[in-house]
Amino acid sequence: MNLLRQIPQVSKLLEIYRKKYPEGLAKRAIKEVLQRVREEVKEGRREHLEDLTELIEKRIRELSTTSLRRVINATGVVINTNLGRSVMSKEVAEFIKEIALHYSNLEYDLEGGGRGSRLSHLEELLLEMTGAEGVHVVNNNAGAVYLVLNTLAFGKEVVVSRGELVEIGGSFRIPDIMRASGARLVEVGTTNRTRLSDYERAISPETALLMKVHRSNFYMEGFVEEVRVEELLSLELPLYYDLGSGSLLNLRELGIRTQEPSFVECIKKGIPVVSGSGDKLLGGPQAGIILGKGELILKMKKNPMSRALRVDKLTLAGLEMTLRLYREGEYEKIPTLRMLTQKTDELKKRARKLIRKLRDVKSLELFLIRDFSRCGGGAMPELLLETYCVGLRHKRLSTPELERLLRKGEPPVVARIREDMLLLDMRTLTEEDLRDLAKVFIKLED
Ligand SMILES: *Cc1c(COP(=O)(O)O)cnc(C)c1O
Repeated sequence: MNLLRQIPQVSKLLEIYRKKYPEGLAKRAIKEVLQRVREEVKEGRREHLEDLTELIEKRIRELSTTSLRRVINATGVVINTNLGRSVMSKEVAEFIKEIALHYSNLEYDLEGGGRGSRLSHLEELLLEMTGAEGVHVVNNNAGAVYLVLNTLAFGKEVVVSRGELVEIGGSFRIPDIMRASGARLVEVGTTNRTRLSDYERAISPETALLMKVHRSNFYMEGFVEEVRVEELLSLELPLYYDLGSGSLLNLRELGIRTQEPSFVECIKKGIPVVSGSGDKLLGGPQAGIILGKGELILKMKKNPMSRALRVDKLTLAGLEMTLRLYREGEYEKIPTLRMLTQKTDELKKRARKLIRKLRDVKSLELFLIRDFSRCGGGAMPELLLETYCVGLRHKRLSTPELERLLRKGEPPVVARIREDMLLLDMRTLTEEDLRDLAKVFIKLED
C-alpha cells in the first residue's frame, strides 16, 4: 500500500512533460499510465515505480502517432491496394498541397467572372490525349461502373459474359453493383468460353447495353474463347468496357509485355463508353475516369448520382498534374510507371547498395536474391517482372518474427517471405525508403 502513496500526482508529472509535448496529450498519457500502474499495484502485480517515465514517454509516442501512416513497401507489388495503390510524384504532391493551402478557381470561370465547372480543369487534357468526344470523372472506378449502368440501363438488361463476372477486392462484384444500379444482368456463355452467338441470342428489346469487363486480377489459359470488341460493336447496341486499370499509354511502348488495353486504343476502336481507375496503372489519385460518346457522357453528367460521386478538389489537382506529366511525356516522373519499367541491373545495384548499408547490423545475414515482382492492383496479373531483393535472415529471430518486428518499425516496413527468408524487393523502394530502411534496422539492433 505504501507504493500507492508513492505514485506521483498528475499535476507534478505534467510540469515535467508539458515542456516537451502538447499539454493535452501529455495529460492524457499520464492519467492513463497512472491508472494502469495503480491497478497493477492493487492487484499485487507491481512492486516498483522505476519504469514510470518510460511508460509515460511510450504512451505519449503512441498517442501522437497518426493512424494513417507512411509505410515502406518492400513487397515488390507496385500497385499495392492495401498499401495505398499508386505513389504520387513530387510534382503532383506539391500541386495538391498548393491547392489545399489556398482558394482556387475550382468552380469559378476566371475569364468571365462567373460560375465554372470543376471538370473543366481536366476535360481538355483528357479529350486531347484520348481522342474521346466526352469525359466525366467521378470518385473511383466502382462509382463509374455504377453511374454508367444506372444512367444507361436502369430497369433494363445488360448482357455480360460469364467469364467476366469478376470480383475485385473489397467486395466489388459485377453482379452486385449491377443489382444496386437498377440494371438487370443477363449472363451469357460459360466461364471459359463465350461466343458472338451467345450475345446475339441474349439480345432482346429489353437490352440497353452490352458490357465487357477486363479480367484485371486473374487470367485464363487453356480452352478459352472470348468475343473481340470489334465483333461486339457489330451488334449495334451501346457497348461499355470497364477497363479496370485504365492505362493512358500503350504500355508495350515502354517495354512492358502486356495485353492490357489502354483508353486510347478503346476510343480508337469506337467503343461508346469506357471507364477505368485513376490510381492503378495511370499512377494518379483515386478517381473513376469515364470516356466516350458525347451524348452518353452528357446523360451521365445529368444523373443526380454524379453529384454524389463527384471528385474533390485535391483529386482534381492530383489528376490534372498527373495528366500534364503524361502529355509532356514525362513518364519517369510517374512512380508507378517508373517502378514497372525499372531495369534489372539498376535493381541489382540498389540491392548491393542496401547490403553494404546493412552490413554493420550484426544480427542479420544478408543475401542478394533474384526473384519476380508483380504489378498488383488488378492489373497485368500474368506479368512477372524480374527483380532483385535483399534476402534477410536474423541470427536469433525466426523469419515470421522478423517480419512482425519490421511491420512495427518506425516507419513500418512491409516485406514478403519466401521459404525461410524475408525478401526486401528493390522495385517498390524509393531513394528515401532506402535511407530509412538502414535506420530501421539499426534501431532494431538496440
Ligand atoms: C479495380 C477495378 C474496379 C474498381 O475500381 P476502383 O477505382 O477501385 O473503384 C472496377 N472494375 C475493374 C475491372 C477493376 O479492375
